[in-house]
Amino acid sequence: MIGAGCTLQELADAPEIPEALREAALGMGSRNVRNRATVGGNIAADRPCSCLIPSLLVLDATLQVAGMDGVGAGLTRQIGLAEWLQAPSGLILEVKLPTADALAAGSRRAAYARWARTATDAAVLGVAVSFRLQETSIRDLRVAIGGVASKSRRDHKLEKRFESWPVQASVDDRPAIEAAALPFLLPDEFGTVGADFRRVRGAALFADVLTAAMDRGGAR
Ligand SMILES: Cc1cc2nc3c(=O)[nH]c(=O)nc-3n(C[C@H](O)[C@H](O)[C@H](O)COP(=O)(O)OP(=O)(O)OC[C@H]3O[C@@H](n4cnc5c(N)ncnc54)[C@H](O)[C@@H]3O)c2cc1C
Repeated sequence: MIGAGCTLQELADAPEIPEALREAALGMGSRNVRNRATVGGNIAADRPCSCLIPSLLVLDATLQVAGMDGVGAGLTRQIGLAEWLQAPSGLILEVKLPTADALAAGSRRAAYARWARTATDAAVLGVAVSFRLQETSIRDLRVAIGGVASKSRRDHKLEKRFESWPVQASVDDRPAIEAAALPFLLPDEFGTVGADFRRVRGAALFADVLTAAMDRGGAR
């Protein structure tokens, strides 16, 4: 369980969090910003390339929220992050990661990476994946991408395309993953970085992240 007031630096320093979430917290490149930005604020700001939202979505995060619309005064509600992002309201109190045990046990793998113009600039693209390995193929794949569309959300078409994808020596497989992902990346026209660049770079980043999760070998 992660308190909503936890800063991104505290999150990055916590020894027990899944590696894909630490990578996401450190994705906010400036330590000064990480010392100020909170988990609740990063989720609620819901920026096009929120560093935390992609990883939290692929880790099936749930939120404990007080004062949500339609919930009695003084009461809290537990709600999936994906559902909350559709109609945000109330004060986020804490974040739970139901998949944390599976990641720690190695039965689920996850990874995150981002692309930014400079090391401390806000990210332009962020990609997170998590999956279970069944024999030698990917199962229950979750993919979340930020910066291709105007919000960071799960990409169910990419998930379907790569469900059951064989896990080979990932270094050999990376070009095939990138080529297979490219037609699925359909950027919105927004922001200052062109759609064509975000499409091509997004496919490359997805291939990097999927192969990194394959190579993670089950350790968180
Ligand atoms: C140089 C720089 C680089 C940056 N890079 C990145 C980046 O790579 N990725 C990225 O995602 N962001 C980046 N940011 C943006 C910044 O980190 C976010 O603004 C920050 O994450 C917001 O967190 P906060 O705690 O400051 O929230 P606040 O700014 O305090 O709040 C944001 C919004 O969330 C609401 N809110 C806050 N807490 C809660 C809560 N518990 N429950 C419900 N609503 C709440 C507030 O009312 C407000 O509407 C960058 C900023 C700078 C200056």
